[in-house]
Amino acid sequence: MNTENCPSCGKEMQWMQLDHYETVGRYKVLLKNVSTYRCSCDTAVFSLDQLEHTERVAAAYVLMNCEDINSDVIKFARKALGLTKDEIAFKLGYTFWFFENAEFEIKRIERLALVGLLLCEDSTFENIKLVVK
Ligand SMILES: [Zn+2]
Repeated sequence: MNTENCPSCGKEMQWMQLDHYETVGRYKVLLKNVSTYRCSCDTAVFSLDQLEHTERVAAAYVLMNCEDINSDVIKFARKALGLTKDEIAFKLGYTFWFFENAEFEIKRIERLALVGLLLCEDSTFENIKLVVK
């Protein structure tokens, strides 16, 4: 396993599991046991992949489990996917372009479409190929 030195104090960091919080709109989500490097000086280093992963999973969790979904949650989810408003509209339909205007009501089925995209983007499809006969 690779070792990593602390960006704050230079000491060698330990690979361990930490609790990580994400703020999704007005919700705060706790992700337990996120693997990361941590130093005895309390500095933790998450990789970019990990941060994208925790953001997408946290957004999916809020979309599935919280009743009051506002435009901040939709915006967070879109950014976690690294998409522009036009790109998310292209993938999920043009109502998504308007969701970041607060007056639009977001239906459960539309939320679940976004959850599907969040979890799909988070999966590894590297070893899967579509074979058409
Ligand atoms: Zn340190």
